[in-house]
Amino acid sequence: MAARRDNSLLFCISPQASDVYSSVNIIGVLYNGAMPELPELEVVCEVLNRRIAGQTIRSVRVFPPGGLVVVRDLTHEGFEVSLAGKTFKTIERRGKFIIFTLQVEPAPLLLVLNPKLTGRLQLASPAEKKKQKTLVIFELESGGELRFRDQKQMGQLYLTRDLETIPDFSGMGPEPFDISLEQFRERIKPYHGEIKGILTRGSFVAGIGNAYADEILWAARIHPYRKRTSLTAVEIETLYHAVQSTLMNAVGIVRDQMGERIDLEPREFFAVHMKTGQPCPRDGTPISVIGANQRITNFCRTCQPGGLIKGMGSAVRKDKEKA
Ligand SMILES: [Zn+2]
Repeated sequence: MAARRDNSLLFCISPQASDVYSSVNIIGVLYNGAMPELPELEVVCEVLNRRIAGQTIRSVRVFPPGGLVVVRDLTHEGFEVSLAGKTFKTIERRGKFIIFTLQVEPAPLLLVLNPKLTGRLQLASPAEKKKQKTLVIFELESGGELRFRDQKQMGQLYLTRDLETIPDFSGMGPEPFDISLEQFRERIKPYHGEIKGILTRGSFVAGIGNAYADEILWAARIHPYRKRTSLTAVEIETLYHAVQSTLMNAVGIVRDQMGERIDLEPREFFAVHMKTGQPCPRDGTPISVIGANQRITNFCRTCQPGGLIKGMGSAVRKDKEKA
């Protein structure tokens, strides 16, 4: 199977039995980790509210000292010094952000985490060995620690008094659980492109990323590369309900499987995402994979027909003929 790496179309595989191993290898090249999305972050917030709400920060340590790669102090009042002595009041999720409220009056003080691809929180005892790439440690009065680690240092921890000052925050669309079918229909109208790209766009709805978009589209039986303009009213309605049910079910499963371990990211239960070559849970067809723009898309070509697969397939074939 040919693979292009010179433009946005990298490869397109509908695995016959012989393709499976090569597609897995290609994924190994492209796939660097799983970005936390709504279900994981929702459960992380539940755990943090149980475990650290009401606790006071004794001190904050940033590693390496002075190397503030992930920390953005938008208050310009000092990250460590502003946080020491403050108490975690509430911990909430908005989209793919986690918002720690430390103070409401006289002026709000908020710590906001955008974990991006590899940023992870961890609850630990001080005696526990520091994991690699631990970048910030919040020491709590109770003796425990909240740690932030990030393999690729892509995540950001903002200290702010105003959420609107955080990049990508103000343009965020509504939470998926907060919109009605009618609002969903209205919001999706201005978008004309491929449906997966729309679902993952934070300005449409917040909190859905690459992985859960695949799961939602499989649940709705819609090919990820179909254009929004090709979807019928019934398909839009099916998609709306798939968004709700897929995310809601996932929150329940993640809650069970994560327990108190907020550094874990249970995803084995997925139907299609990262399941290339494995049987579709609905009809047994080997799961297909498309790689474009450094993102993996998995789907079932039997129960999610259509899209641009024909065109993309012929592009790949032409490559092969040239080679
Ligand atoms: Zn299927």
